Amino acid sequence: MTQPLTDIIWLHDDLRVADNLLLHFASPPEAMLVVYVLDERKLAPWHPDDEGMRLGPARIRFLWQSVMELRGQLLRLGSDLLVKIGSPADEMAALCQALRPRRVRVSHSPCADEAADIDALRAQLSAGTELDVIDNNTLIDAGSLPFAWQEWPGSFSAFRRRVEKDNEIPAPLAAPVTLPPWPDDASRGFPPLQHLCRESANWQADPRGEFDYGGGEAAGHARLQDYLWAHEAIGEQAGPAYYKQTRNGLAGADFSTRFSAWLSRGCLSPRQVHQAVKDWEASHGQCESSYWITFELLWRDYFHHAAELDGAGLFGRRALPPLNDAFNAWRAGRTGIPFIDAAMIELSSTGFLSNRARQNVASYLVKDLKVDWRLGAAWFEHCLIDFDAPSNWGNWRYVGGTGRDPRRNRYFNVLGQADRYDPAGHYVARWLPALVDLPADQRHRPWQKAPEHFARPLAEPYD
Ligand SMILES: Cc1cc2nc3c(=O)[nH]c(=O)nc-3n(C[C@H](O)[C@H](O)[C@H](O)COP(=O)(O)OP(=O)(O)OC[C@H]3O[C@@H](n4cnc5c(N)ncnc54)[C@H](O)[C@@H]3O)c2cc1C
Repeated sequence: MTQPLTDIIWLHDDLRVADNLLLHFASPPEAMLVVYVLDERKLAPWHPDDEGMRLGPARIRFLWQSVMELRGQLLRLGSDLLVKIGSPADEMAALCQALRPRRVRVSHSPCADEAADIDALRAQLSAGTELDVIDNNTLIDAGSLPFAWQEWPGSFSAFRRRVEKDNEIPAPLAAPVTLPPWPDDASRGFPPLQHLCRESANWQADPRGEFDYGGGEAAGHARLQDYLWAHEAIGEQAGPAYYKQTRNGLAGADFSTRFSAWLSRGCLSPRQVHQAVKDWEASHGQCESSYWITFELLWRDYFHHAAELDGAGLFGRRALPPLNDAFNAWRAGRTGIPFIDAAMIELSSTGFLSNRARQNVASYLVKDLKVDWRLGAAWFEHCLIDFDAPSNWGNWRYVGGTGRDPRRNRYFNVLGQADRYDPAGHYVARWLPALVDLPADQRHRPWQKAPEHFARPLAEPYD
């Protein structure tokens, strides 16, 4: 009997069925196995001096919800999802050995580890198996960028202008209505979350964050619909018509889109978000504010493509330095600057932080406390539900002064920022209850008016 023509679909941060090019075929295989391998390197400590895993509890929880929901979707389409924990290249090589597929399909990754895994698998494949590496997770495919890598634009603005002039963002693809059957005798299985980390199974976001992220494609689409369409109906000044005004907010569910967690795990694709914004604009008219959502998605594209150029250099190349007192105070929210401490407590207890707060805490760590930026980036990697290597390490590189566009390397005077973005001190009092009884004008500098209760900060921001 001849072997059926089998494809293996190797998933990473592309945990969706709609607009997933890996699931669209010019000539469908006779059988198809879909696999997600949780990379055991992500279960190692985020730092040699600490026990927490690179994949912190908030991240694991969201990831597992996303993977579980995807399995349900695939089962409904006649397929399934095999989930494994281990070395992705080795697990994949073993599957290929057992199934002898005609083809393995995988999304292109700009990140060094994932790209190395793909190369390692390629080196082990037998002659009869092809490896298709497909651009699947950016607005513009790397191969469609209107310049060669060696002509990479000197700034984000130059990148954006070229792309906006020369590229059309492709429309997203609908989900397939059916998928090829599971190969006979191929294994199935899904390790329960408790086996990975008991802490993650019980992890809950602090309700002060006012947002509960649920992983998966359906929750991502629900958020997309809700953010774009729900506010106007109830007369709220939020959503795409107000995005540019509200996006620098600090607290609440709707000051920004909150799409990042679903984009990062690929439960939503950036093209789906772009298309949904265009649909909104078709009924409301385009405005600067709605355009700004696509503008921000182009930042994401910029970091993804730039990561390709940076390779392992994205992560700063050297080993992480030891933890020190200033860093430990920063991550625990004990620097004495309420604006920084509130944000760091929010980060560790919700897994999310606004862009404004991310920029301030990063600047304070690097520029005021003089700590190596890579420790900050690694801590964010542990905590952030929306962790995305190119966006996280790319943004941190700017703060560390090694970004590709020197104009982005700005110093933030965090007290000035606190006065501007949290004038009544509501944000800091929400996360630091000791401030609640202070008048608004003292909440950002409590050590000045009440030195007996509030210690001087570790470093006062310089002008
Ligand atoms: C130090 C630092 C670390 C960061 N780490 C991450 C990370 O790990 N993952 C991540 O998705 N974003 C990261 N960002 C970018 C940004 O802060 C988040 O994307 C944003 O706060 C997520 O909230 P949102 O979805 O409501 O964003 P919105 O303001 O609604 O933006 C819409 C989308 O545009 C993209 N986007 C917006 N700003 C940026 C940016 N500066 N860089 C790249 N993409 C952007 C995101 O996909 C986001 O979901 C980081 C920023 C800084 C300063």
